[in-house]
Amino acid sequence: MVIDDLKFDDRGLLTVIAQDWRTGEVLMVAFANREAVQKTFETGRVHYYSRSRQSLWLKGESSGAFQLVKEIRTDCDRDALLIKIEQLGGGACHTGERSCFFEVMRAGESVFDVLERLEGVIEERRLSTGEKSYVKSLLEKGEDTQLKKVGEESMEFACAVKDRDSARVVAEAADVLFHMAVCMADKGIGLGLIKDELARRFGTGGHEEKAARS
Ligand code: AMP
Ligand code: ZN
Ligand code: ZN
Ligand code: ZN
Repeated sequence: MVIDDLKFDDRGLLTVIAQDWRTGEVLMVAFANREAVQKTFETGRVHYYSRSRQSLWLKGESSGAFQLVKEIRTDCDRDALLIKIEQLGGGACHTGERSCFFEVMRAGESVFDVLERLEGVIEERRLSTGEKSYVKSLLEKGEDTQLKKVGEESMEFACAVKDRDSARVVAEAADVLFHMAVCMADKGIGLGLIKDELARRFGTGGHEEKAARS
């Protein structure tokens, strides 16, 4: 794969996606012409083509927000680049934000949204009289069984972390959270209180935190 294999469009441009090399966060999307791609390879700093200024653009040249190249990939039809970078000088965006993609048009489900949904399902199962379910059996077996599960799953989580097995870390963390949610539902303690408590520790109350978000 060389630069000559890339497919520049009829304006001589291709799309460049700049991604944080550690977290995978998408920081910026812009265009590059052949010269910009060459310069990016040569210097290890991402260069774009500015359509508004109609010129080569070394990202960070005036702001200091340089982008150091860690890895360069092209996509299946070679008309786009994915560049993993170390972002210098704070943010990739000229507004000062770390990522240009800070405007939310439709919010995804947060970790807490999913936990709240789980809480609803547990409550449904608790009230249902019909079919057998794992949640129902945990609730019926009571405190000792529930606490034993929380303990076991916590140990499994710890082992997965020690083993550097990230897929298992995720699965075991989910097991811990699930069994914790069942325990709390059994005692009638709402998961929302965890959010309030965590938010309080940031120095803001849950309501202020929510108000600040909306
Ligand atoms: P910089 O390359 O960071 O020194 O910024 C130079 C100029 O490029 C800025 O004044 C903006 O006009 C523009 N610019 C910088 N970063 C971005 C970005 N992420 N998206 C769009 N335009 C940008
Ligand atoms: Zn493509
Ligand atoms: Zn931006
Ligand atoms: Zn487990």
